Amino acid sequence: MTEIYIDGAWRKAASGETIPVYEPATGGRFAQIAAGGAADIDAAVAAARAAFEGAWGRTTATERGRLLTELSRRIAAEAEELAQIEARDTGKPMKQARADIGALVRYFEYYGGAADKLHGEAIPYLNGYNVAVVNEPYGVTGHIIPWNYPAQMFGRTLAPALAAGNATVIKPAEDACLSIVRLAALAHEAGFPPGAINLVTGLGEEAGAALAAHPGVDFISFTGSPEVGVLVQKAAAEHYAPCVLELGGKSPQIVFDDADLDAAIPIIIAAIVQNGGQTCSAGSRVLVQEGVYDALVGRLAERFKDLRVGSPDMDLDCGPLISADQKRRVEGFVEGALRDGVPLIACGSVAEGADANGYYVAPALFGPAPRDNLIACEEVFGPVLVVLPFRDEADAVALANATDYGLIAAVWTRDGARQQRMPRLLRCGQVFVNCYGAGGGVELPFGGVGKSGHGREKGFHAIEEFCRTKTIVHHFG
Ligand code: NAD
Repeated sequence: MTEIYIDGAWRKAASGETIPVYEPATGGRFAQIAAGGAADIDAAVAAARAAFEGAWGRTTATERGRLLTELSRRIAAEAEELAQIEARDTGKPMKQARADIGALVRYFEYYGGAADKLHGEAIPYLNGYNVAVVNEPYGVTGHIIPWNYPAQMFGRTLAPALAAGNATVIKPAEDACLSIVRLAALAHEAGFPPGAINLVTGLGEEAGAALAAHPGVDFISFTGSPEVGVLVQKAAAEHYAPCVLELGGKSPQIVFDDADLDAAIPIIIAAIVQNGGQTCSAGSRVLVQEGVYDALVGRLAERFKDLRVGSPDMDLDCGPLISADQKRRVEGFVEGALRDGVPLIACGSVAEGADANGYYVAPALFGPAPRDNLIACEEVFGPVLVVLPFRDEADAVALANATDYGLIAAVWTRDGARQQRMPRLLRCGQVFVNCYGAGGGVELPFGGVGKSGHGREKGFHAIEEFCRTKTIVHHFG
C-alpha cells in the first residue's frame, strides 16, 4: 500500500482508508493507495505554508533551478523502472510510457534552466521616480491532475510552480498515480526541503474537492474534465484564488485539397491512437475538403484496419483504456453513432492474447458524420476518429470552430498564404501547420479557449502563470 507525503515524511491517510488500484490490461486489482481526505489536505496545506514562509521561501532562483535539474537527473537514471510503473498503472504501451518519462525529464530540465531567467521590468514614469515590476510566487499552489499522463503531468504542473518559488500540494487521479508516489520519493532524495512538495492521493470528491476549497491555497492548477473544472473554479472563487484550467478538446485536423497526404496520414493516425485516444489534444476530428475526401478516407481506412490493441508489453498501436468506466463511456459513443446511422468506415482489432477482462476497445473510424452528431462535437477520449467533409476555406473555419472546445488544431495545405491565414482564424490555443503535436513540446505554451479551459501551461509562460506581479514605485527627488 502506498502512503501520502506531507512535510517531507510518509504517512497513512488520517482516515486509515485505502483505494484499490486496477490493472487496465487484466482488470485485476494489483495495488492500494491511501485515501487522503480533508484532514490530510489541511495538513499538506499547512506544511506548504510553513515551507513557503521558511526554508523553501528563502531559496534563490538559482538554488531552485539546481534542485529541479537534480530531480531531472534522478528521473533519467530511473527512467525504465518509472516507465514500467506507468505502463502497468495506466495500460499504455511501453513505447508510450518511455516517451512520457522522456518528456518528464525534459520538464524538470527545462524549468531547472528557466528558474533564474524570470526577470521583472523597469517602467519609465514621472521624473524622479523608479518603477519596478517584480514577479512573486503566489505562495501555496494546489495541483489536481488526471490519469492519462500522470508522470508527465507531475512535471508539467509542478516544475514551473516550483521554479517560480511556490510550495505545492498535488492531488493526482485515483485511477493512476503510482508513478507520482515514486516521483515524490525521488524529489525528496534530490533535496527538496520538507513542505515544498506535498502529495495527497485520494478520491476527487474528497481530497480534490477539499484542496480546491481550501482557503489556504493561493492558486489552483486543474487538468481534467470540463465538468469538474467548473466545480474547481467555483470552489476556488469562494476564497478568491485564481485558476488555470486545462480541460478537454475535440481538436481538428483540417486537410485541404492541396495537402501532402503522404505526410499527413501517418500523423493523423498517430494523433488519435496515441495513448488510446485518451489525450486532451488528440486529433479526434478530420475535416477534409471535398476534392480529396475519397482519397484521404480510403487511405485512412486501410491504416485503421491494421491498428491493433494489446497489453503494455505487447507494445502495439494502443493499450487498454484506463478503467471499466472509461471503456463503457467510449463504447457508448460508438453505439450512439451506429444508432444514429453514422457510417463506420473501418475498425482495428484487439490482439489475440489480450486478457478478456482488460479494458480493450478497438479503434474506430466514422464518417461522414452529421456536423451536430455527438461523435462530431463531443470529446470521446478513446481511439475513435470522425471524418467530416467541407467545401472551402470559410466552411473549414466554421466547422473547425463549431464545437464548444478549442484546444489545438492542424492545417494541412501547400498554399503559403493559407498557411498564414488559417491559424489566425481558428479559435484555439495552438495551431500546427503541416505537422501536429498531441501533448508534445515542453517548450510550447499550451492551453485552451472556451470549454477547453483557460490559462497557459508549458514553455516560459507557465512560470509567469504561477507568479503574480508586484509594482514597486520609488520616489527619489
Ligand atoms: P476528471 O475531471 O474526472 O478528474 C481529474 C482530476 O480531478 C482527478 O484527480 C480527480 O480525482 C479530480 N476530481 C474529480 N472530482 C473532483 C471534484 N469534485 N473536486 C476536485 N477534484 C475532483 O477527469 P478525468 O476523467 O480524470 O480526465 C479526463 C479529462 O481530462 C478529459 O476531459 C481530458 O480531455 C482532460 N484532460 C485535459 C488535459 C489538458 O491539458 N487540457 C490533459 C489531460 C486530460
